[in-house]
Amino acid sequence: MPAAEPRILIVGGGFGGLFTALELAGAGSVTLVSDEDHFLFTPMLYEYLSGEVEAWHIAPKYRELLDENVRVIQGAVANIDLTQNRVTVEAYSEPIEYDILVVAVGGVTNYAGVPGAEEFAIPFRKIAHADLLRNRMVAALDRVPPNLPPQDTRSALTFTVAGAGASGVELSTKVADLLRDAFERRALTGEPRVLVIEMGQKIVPGMGDAIREIVAAALTESRVEVHTLTRVVRITQDTVTVEHDGVRTEFETAAVVWTGGVRVNPVVDRLAVEKTDRGLILVEPTLQVRAHENIFALGDIAFFEDATPTLAGTGQLALQQAGLVARNVRALIDGAQLQTKHFEEMGEAVSLGTERAAVLAGGKAFGGPLARQARFALYTARLPTWHHRLKVGASWFFEGTTPRPLLPLGIQRDT
Ligand SMILES: Cc1cc2nc3c(=O)[nH]c(=O)nc-3n(C[C@H](O)[C@H](O)[C@H](O)COP(=O)(O)OP(=O)(O)OC[C@H]3O[C@@H](n4cnc5c(N)ncnc54)[C@H](O)[C@@H]3O)c2cc1C
Repeated sequence: MPAAEPRILIVGGGFGGLFTALELAGAGSVTLVSDEDHFLFTPMLYEYLSGEVEAWHIAPKYRELLDENVRVIQGAVANIDLTQNRVTVEAYSEPIEYDILVVAVGGVTNYAGVPGAEEFAIPFRKIAHADLLRNRMVAALDRVPPNLPPQDTRSALTFTVAGAGASGVELSTKVADLLRDAFERRALTGEPRVLVIEMGQKIVPGMGDAIREIVAAALTESRVEVHTLTRVVRITQDTVTVEHDGVRTEFETAAVVWTGGVRVNPVVDRLAVEKTDRGLILVEPTLQVRAHENIFALGDIAFFEDATPTLAGTGQLALQQAGLVARNVRALIDGAQLQTKHFEEMGEAVSLGTERAAVLAGGKAFGGPLARQARFALYTARLPTWHHRLKVGASWFFEGTTPRPLLPLGIQRDT
């Protein structure tokens, strides 16, 4: 390790990468590479879709969060060369060399090989995906005249969500509430249809029964149709085919949103390090990559044993791991003992439409409008940097968090 200014390269600027960079600022020559110019607080992407929050609240630019002690490079990492200690970034002529590497590139949508899914389904992981879905909803509403018979309106305004994990239920309740509001404003007849297709037996399988009951009640209240033990088998531009008990049914649909799974980033697929069967990087309890003392991996791409199992693949875990990685990078530089840590659940909060949420805190679950307020408060505290938290907290408190209706395209305020 060079005595002066070790080169610390952090790849990926999500929960794992950004929070590591924030804590390592000044520890050496720190560089963050990300394919986006902003962080994304994913738990509130649903509220961005509904207009309850704005992009600057949940997707602040790295430059606003990180001081001059961290160099930020925007570009997609094409290759990590572990033998030469350097990383190639697309559209960046020189490879970037490092002494210490932190890999936090996260996951990508897993379409599980379903025909048409990659081509026609909308993923839901980025600001651009939420914009695309919202525009698709407005366009579908704009095509429906008020005098269209209810059954035609219903099929023209059918939206399908693939997957009934937390993401699927949060998204479907939000979509249903937004559409219902638009129906009233536009005086449409009948009602919209929101389908959730889940191949497993139950909704939100990773959650406890108490919170699941609240979620199930909210789905009913938002009139979301849930089909369990049912698979999506084909998607086209305007249809979705599902299979239940060996019987296939095709629905007309204005959009299919895919929340059905995550797989590791292709950058990690190409990395020659020890991995699990699912392709996750095996890390030591210190979060160092096995057999690579100067490389750390965390978040959705790393398999870390000493954590509550339900934390796997969550922002909560990546956020907590970032603290440990930062401490251990400093220890490595100083020649000190590296640490390990056990990670626990920090509580769960699920958005359920535009007026309700469910929160699990201290072993107790509660739902309704109060839980929605609690969720906003909880998430304000988890946003990066004090400065950003204060700005966002003030904005939510003084300007409110009312959803932005799906107005006709010509009179949209800002879409
Ligand atoms: C819609 C949604 C809602 C969620 N809600 C919750 C929740 O309520 N609670 C919870 O705990 N977890 C939630 N999660 C999961 C959580 O977002 C992830 O577990 C967490 O983001 C993982 O952190 P990470 O740092 O591993 O990856 P990410 O946060 O995904 O960060 C990866 C970063 O790497 C960048 N990147 C990717 N590929 C490249 C490349 N080739 N070159 C350069 N940069 C690259 C990405 O742009 C991103 O900045 C949600 C996820 C989604 C999609």
